[in-house]
Amino acid sequence: MVRARACIKCREYMVIHPDNPINQVDIKKFERKHTSHTIMTVDLNEIKGTYAPSTNNDGPQTTDGNV
Ligand SMILES: [Zn+2]
Repeated sequence: MVRARACIKCREYMVIHPDNPINQVDIKKFERKHTSHTIMTVDLNEIKGTYAPSTNNDGPQTTDGNV
């Protein structure tokens, strides 16, 4: 089973790869980015198709309040 960290507010997720240290950093970044939102750990199958995969680049993205 693949799990992911998902932000309910933004409907974005980041897949968790427990053995990948780079992924740990990405998860931390994801959590920091959505720190004031509601983040859950979920089964990827539950959110696939509903949530969008989060990207690592810090380029322009949807701003807060633009839900
Ligand atoms: Zn969020």
